[in-house]
Amino acid sequence: MDNKVILALQAVLDADELLLPGELNFEKYGKDETEDLYFAPHVVVRPKSVEAVQAVVRVADQFVVPLVSRGGGTGLSGGALPVRGGIVLSTERLNRILEIDQENFFVRVEPGVITQVMQEAVEAVGLFYPVDPASRGSCTIGEMLLRVQVGREHLSTAQRKTMCSELTSCWRMVSLCDMAASG
Ligand SMILES: Cc1cc2nc3c(=O)[nH]c(=O)nc-3n(C[C@H](O)[C@H](O)[C@H](O)COP(=O)(O)OP(=O)(O)OC[C@H]3O[C@@H](n4cnc5c(N)ncnc54)[C@H](O)[C@@H]3O)c2cc1C
Repeated sequence: MDNKVILALQAVLDADELLLPGELNFEKYGKDETEDLYFAPHVVVRPKSVEAVQAVVRVADQFVVPLVSRGGGTGLSGGALPVRGGIVLSTERLNRILEIDQENFFVRVEPGVITQVMQEAVEAVGLFYPVDPASRGSCTIGEMLLRVQVGREHLSTAQRKTMCSELTSCWRMVSLCDMAASG
């Protein structure tokens, strides 16, 4: 990768948002839970804000560099692997639960929130998030909404479609479950 890409990323990110080859934990971003596959990225970014994500996307676009997003890295089909190198964008630091609106069954989260963390947060205020993958302790909400994960709980096709149409939030899932519980 052209060194100009690194310089451009350094110009828009905080030092701790950028990980270069040889640095601690760099290697883990070349694999997920897919068996025996490893592809080294050229650089890893771990943005802490939406603005930083936008800046990274602009750099990737400007220099025509592959950009692979990564949640918890628990995927079993290699989706988070940087097969052509480039930039791996990890959502691990975008991990805040921004709002739980109990009245309207609405929860607003950043994409890197771990599924179990969100489940426990809504349960603490008497709500329920039904999608329950076995990897809930390490997979992310952002990926789940993207892919409409099902996990151990069964959801109807209609429910899944509704989930798909609500990519920016999870409130539908919570409210659907509530409606189901109330008959
Ligand atoms: C022990 C174990 C148990 C599992 N159990 C289940 C289960 O019960 N049900 C099930 O469905 N799956 C299961 N899985 C598979 C895996 O956990 C799920 O696919 C999970 O949803 C992946 O989430 P992740 O955050 O780890 O995504 P990653 O592996 O990091 O990424 C997966 C894909 O999503 C993309 N992506 C990630 N985050 C974003 C984002 N914010 N925006 C855009 N694209 C993004 C990546 O580029 C990649 O293509 C299991 C895996 C393991 C290892």
